[in-house]
Amino acid sequence: MHSSKKLKRGLIVSCQAEKNEPLYGSENMALLAYAAEISGAIGIRALTAKDVYEIRKKVSLPIIGITKDRKSNGAFITIRKKDIDELVNAGADFVAIDCTDRERPEPLKELFEHIRNTYEGLGIVADISNLKEAKEVVKLNPDYISTTLSGYTSYTKNRDKPDLNLISEIVKITNIPVIAEGNYVYPKQARQAILNGAYSVVVGGAITRPQQITDRFNRAIRNVLNDFNSIGIDLGGTHIRIIKLNSKKEILDKEIVKTPETKELILKKLFELTDKYIDKNTKFLGIATAGRVNVKNGEIIFASKNLPDWIGMKLKEVFEKKYSLDVNVSNDANFAAYSQYLQTKKDLLYITVGTGIGSGIIIDGKICNGVNGNSGEIGHIIYPMNNNPCTCGKNGCIETLLSGKNLWKNLEENTEQKDKIFDDYSEKMAWLIDVVKNTIDFEEVYIGGVLPRYGEFLINLINEKYRNLSEINKENIFYSNVGELAGAYGAAVYSFEKWEEEL
Ligand SMILES: [Zn+2]
Repeated sequence: MHSSKKLKRGLIVSCQAEKNEPLYGSENMALLAYAAEISGAIGIRALTAKDVYEIRKKVSLPIIGITKDRKSNGAFITIRKKDIDELVNAGADFVAIDCTDRERPEPLKELFEHIRNTYEGLGIVADISNLKEAKEVVKLNPDYISTTLSGYTSYTKNRDKPDLNLISEIVKITNIPVIAEGNYVYPKQARQAILNGAYSVVVGGAITRPQQITDRFNRAIRNVLNDFNSIGIDLGGTHIRIIKLNSKKEILDKEIVKTPETKELILKKLFELTDKYIDKNTKFLGIATAGRVNVKNGEIIFASKNLPDWIGMKLKEVFEKKYSLDVNVSNDANFAAYSQYLQTKKDLLYITVGTGIGSGIIIDGKICNGVNGNSGEIGHIIYPMNNNPCTCGKNGCIETLLSGKNLWKNLEENTEQKDKIFDDYSEKMAWLIDVVKNTIDFEEVYIGGVLPRYGEFLINLINEKYRNLSEINKENIFYSNVGELAGAYGAAVYSFEKWEEEL
């Protein structure tokens, strides 16, 4: 049994710079290592014997030494016995060895034997790229297995970066501690690696390459540094609305046109409008569309007959290809809800009453999307004892009772019973708000669409019925005042305000 040195659990900082990098030089690496040491790192990973030697003079942390053979087409990290000798002589406590299943000048087994026979106490870190290699190297009993090379061998190019799953996979097959390494950029990734079972985490460039850090900040602000504008489109069953905003969210331009009748003509019209308003300062494009949308890929999952053949339309892809902009697609009610949020800055439920019941929910200042973006389809909650067929294919959806169309029809057909109709309508609307409130805890409710036309008494009635349901129902219900451009406006603003950090 050998008894190598042990690493503590924690953060290992990899201090490496290539010849073409600004911080290239052993003295610089020693300073970076020192900075890591006084900030709580538990180990240093270093490239070349020379760097190991300089770092050893400056820090007392364990050092994992490596060499790289840039000319090698196969394995390239510490692949020769003489590399190991140099690293040990320079002061390395561990050596990391390329244990991938690739061509190498000296058999892996020989390198392990060389260390075990020659250097009492020297620890071995086995750098691998996948589970198969981990399984193979377990037989040689390294002190640690490191995921360093996942993504860097031809057969692992498509793995996630960083490869958090690989950690979970390896800890299942061996008790040898696993070190997470390779493409760790954000602290939350390092944390997740530990939660996945990693013993320690190696972070390199994200800490030791200022050019990487600078670039990350630059990328975050590049699109909003100079005057920019954003376009929002709201594609509805009857009208298309387009709006252009400057960076202060002021409206520069707007237009409303009738929605054409076929898929081809709709797309043509959307392009026509976009071409008309886009300019060299346009950096963002948001599209609000009727129907259900997969917000991740911007594909239409469901659309009514008003938008014929619209299902399956890859709206995001089509627009990104044509305009090379970041395109954000969501349901029209979601973006209208965001417009409302921009006025109130409160988490809210937004309900729009029209041919059906649309809704958007804002939680923590963001649209509540759910897995594909279909949260908030509250019109399709089934109301007790209701059996009316709904456009969605179910029977009993509450939108068959609460749609503007239905309310209007009822009032037309029963002119003598207006009070009862409004009373009944308010009760059901209050019931729906209460159901949603018990699912998602919002602060305010806004109702838009055709409902505000009926006047203040109706919203007062809805508030009264809502409070009558329970004494804990204290949320205020208002008519929405965002107007008919809300969907387009919300789409335009959301596209630049809710920018997601690129990984
Ligand atoms: Zn339904």
